[in-house]
Amino acid sequence: EQRHTGRVAFVTGAGSGIGRGIARRLGAEGARVACVDLDHARAVETAKAIEDAGGTALGLAADVRDRATVKAAFEATATAWDRFDYLVNNAGLITMSSLEELTDEEWDLVLDVNLKGVYVVTQLAIPYFREAQRGAVVNLSTVEAEVVVSSQGFAQVHYNASKGGVKMLTKALAVELARHQVRVNAVAPGPVPTNFLPGLDLNSPEVLEAMQSRLLVQRLGTPDDIAAAVSFLLSDDASYISGAQLPVDGGWLAR
Ligand code: NAD
Repeated sequence: EQRHTGRVAFVTGAGSGIGRGIARRLGAEGARVACVDLDHARAVETAKAIEDAGGTALGLAADVRDRATVKAAFEATATAWDRFDYLVNNAGLITMSSLEELTDEEWDLVLDVNLKGVYVVTQLAIPYFREAQRGAVVNLSTVEAEVVVSSQGFAQVHYNASKGGVKMLTKALAVELARHQVRVNAVAPGPVPTNFLPGLDLNSPEVLEAMQSRLLVQRLGTPDDIAAAVSFLLSDDASYISGAQLPVDGGWLAR
């Protein structure tokens, strides 16, 4: 028996990077995992990797900005498995623009996916949590909800605003969902090489050097580093933790 045996998890943005790592870890620890992504083919790939490793998973398409698609994904999950335990709000994105270059379209896209998406998906999970009268949510925040990390001399103001919102939204959702015995927390990763920053090669020597001068643990993070913390916060070992944001950043925020 593993810590998530028999439980059902719904992970957004599970087609890539950190979300895929979270889905795979939860699957390996016994959960049945709904792998949800805008990109259906990649969600199915994640589900297949979980099943190939002996787990149970579904690959589903949904856009966290689009209630109808999210509702359909919850319904497909409920049809497959008659319980609901965990929600991981991981879908997110960034665009690299200085304040001067930033467009309303970029602002709206990043705020809609990163912040409004957490609200939409969590609200649509309420019927399942109300029925279960237990459960846990983890939201993906970032060290950039705490400090501004300049890249090429510029902040990403829309991204900072969206994730600062996620940090506070996490507390508000924790208050709202406490009536159903559901805990809500966030993790704040430092830099993790994924498809997230296509313009920035986190493994290039120059970038790596700049990063490592801040990191206390002398390496970049991996999706599984983040997944380990998410799995803990979802688990009963964290049953006395709600409304918190846990840095998982190799010590980035310490200096
Ligand atoms: P990624 O780009 O590798 O994966 C993100 C996934 O989300 C993709 O599969 C994408 O298709 C999906 N997605 C995007 N928009 C969506 C939408 N509207 N609906 C559903 N799915 C959508 O990125 P990642 O690095 O794995 O990032 C995952 C989360 O971690 C994000 O919230 C990000 O802000 C956060 N984060 C990442 C880093 C990092 O360094 N990589 C650091 C801190 C926080």
